Amino acid sequence: MQGDLGWFGLEWDEVVLQSRQDERHRAALDRLAAAGRLYRCDCSRSKIKAHGVRGADGGWVYPNTCRAQVVGGDWRSVTGVIRARLDDARLALADESGLDLSQTPATALGDPVVRRRDGAVAYNLAVVVDDADLGVTRVVRGRDIALSTATQVALQRLLGLPQPSYRHHLLFLEENRAKLAKLHGAVGARQLRARYSAAELCGVIAAAAGLSEHATATSPRELLSGFAWRKVRVADQILRLTGTDLVWVGAAASATGVERG
Ligand SMILES: [Zn+2]
Repeated sequence: MQGDLGWFGLEWDEVVLQSRQDERHRAALDRLAAAGRLYRCDCSRSKIKAHGVRGADGGWVYPNTCRAQVVGGDWRSVTGVIRARLDDARLALADESGLDLSQTPATALGDPVVRRRDGAVAYNLAVVVDDADLGVTRVVRGRDIALSTATQVALQRLLGLPQPSYRHHLLFLEENRAKLAKLHGAVGARQLRARYSAAELCGVIAAAAGLSEHATATSPRELLSGFAWRKVRVADQILRLTGTDLVWVGAAASATGVERG
């Protein structure tokens, strides 16, 4: 992916591999354990599903069933899933774009998994620890992640970490409303690189995003000088692969874009 991003003309200051943050992630789990926040969850997917409550993200809400199974400093010896007990309070939260992300994450989605069954630290905790370690003060990301923000802020508060500001932007979708992403096998980077130069592709994307009137060749660096968030379309946009051409169709009918990828 770094290769594709570099080809496209995106630049970065530093590459930090999440796997190298292991020690810091474990230290965060130690802190949560010391605060009595970690518990062992034995619930199967089907048990959680049987509870029958859908979250706003389309997934099944975890009903915090196992909260009594508190694990302490010996969390490393626990096999299986470990969750963190969040406060049951509502978090008032809005991102820079004005998107209201207020939520009671403990009940809206359920206490988050912080260590997965396979022993890996789960996304919500990893991203919170990494952002703090790297001194990230501003997070810009797709709207598909928006509903996780309250959970992440709740974890930041438990860990006493600073809260970055957030902004969530539109998504490019394919017409079946799944995300237009390599992840879904919709359009691969290799396919696009075979058809377009980086400047041409950047032009197509810039026009679809609202940053330029026509799909004229450009680069991220060129777009920077005239960049303003007010130019960026709010509604999710549909792109279609016609033959080898990536064609911008227009705005998606409703701006959901929050289904989990
Ligand atoms: Zn459970």
